[in-house]
Amino acid sequence: MLEPLVEAVVSALPNAVVIFSPQGNVLAYNSKALELFGFNSMQDKSVEDLAQTCTLENGSPIASSIFVSPQANEPRRFMIRSKKTGKWILVYASPVASDGAQQGKNKVGAITIYSEKTEIVKNLSKLSRELQQKTKYQVNIEKPLLEAIKLRDDFISMASHELKTPLTSMKLQAEIVKRKHNETQLTRDQLDKLFSTWEEQLERLNSLIDGMLDVSALSEGKIKTHPCKLDLGKAIKSQVGRFYTEQISFIKKKQVIGTWDPRRIDQIVSNLLTNAIKYGHKKPIEIILDQDGNSAVIEVTDHGEGIARENFEKIFKRFERVPSDISVGGIGLGLYIVKQIVETTGGSIAVKSKKGEGSTFTVRIPLSS
Ligand code: ADP
Repeated sequence: MLEPLVEAVVSALPNAVVIFSPQGNVLAYNSKALELFGFNSMQDKSVEDLAQTCTLENGSPIASSIFVSPQANEPRRFMIRSKKTGKWILVYASPVASDGAQQGKNKVGAITIYSEKTEIVKNLSKLSRELQQKTKYQVNIEKPLLEAIKLRDDFISMASHELKTPLTSMKLQAEIVKRKHNETQLTRDQLDKLFSTWEEQLERLNSLIDGMLDVSALSEGKIKTHPCKLDLGKAIKSQVGRFYTEQISFIKKKQVIGTWDPRRIDQIVSNLLTNAIKYGHKKPIEIILDQDGNSAVIEVTDHGEGIARENFEKIFKRFERVPSDISVGGIGLGLYIVKQIVETTGGSIAVKSKKGEGSTFTVRIPLSS
């Protein structure tokens, strides 16, 4: 038993206080301690009883020695939680020596002071909520935004490069013509050749700019179509003819008639053939037309570079390109445009490919869209 004066001091203290004997029995306590730990009385309670009703911060059980350890000479601070009251409690456990001056020498017990830490906990959970929100924001908004900005920057540099290449070569040719023209050294054949190169380059610039203009309309779902009755075989044949190459063979398995926008069909065929030529290592290319039920099926096969499986999805995305073994120009729009057009008709596009062996792109479009 403690002296009445000590007991009076303990109950007058503003914090919850419990005093243990060296054996771990409760010698004195105040009403604030009862309130924190959820006991009606602590008479005849021991340090084990207290430890059993609490957990550590991480939810694990408490060893009773944490409150009053014979080895501990230094006061210790730690956080626990009462299972009875659910309160978070900051503990300040201090061993007490009988001589008062030399702690730990003639230990008589321990004083443990407790204070409820609702404010800390409140702040902690507010902080953790804020952190969660921030993480969500980063995942849902900030990350896609940063990705979009990077994509845009990559696109601007790709597009400027692509637009500049034909312009630079036209400028050079114009300078040569100017010089030779003054010297009247240009033959009719040379002039014809020059004009057809310029025509090709202007066509390339035109289709690049068309592609860019299309993309904003396509990504906003504002694609305009003007469908009319069309013989798909004829449309494909005329596109194949525009490539002026023996490399492409067209196999028409069936006459396929349907209702589509001719300009959009041209874009599908021309973008797929352009890629087959660009990535086809100059090997033969086949374009096959067939009909499967109510769908037209167009298959474009090359035997060139091929695409690794992990890039099958990526290549249909806007501005996405895959690093290539060969150096070919492009702005990563061709397949995106094809996919958007095909999907607005209610159709689909699929790719089969093996790196180094070539690729087959299969487009299925309903006969009437
Ligand atoms: P671009 O050709 O301008 O890069 P595309 O959207 O047409 O853009 O193609 C995206 C990517 O898909 C290309 O960068 C290329 O890596 C890959 N790709 C497309 N077609 C083929 C093909 N026939 N063979 C191999 N790779 C291809």
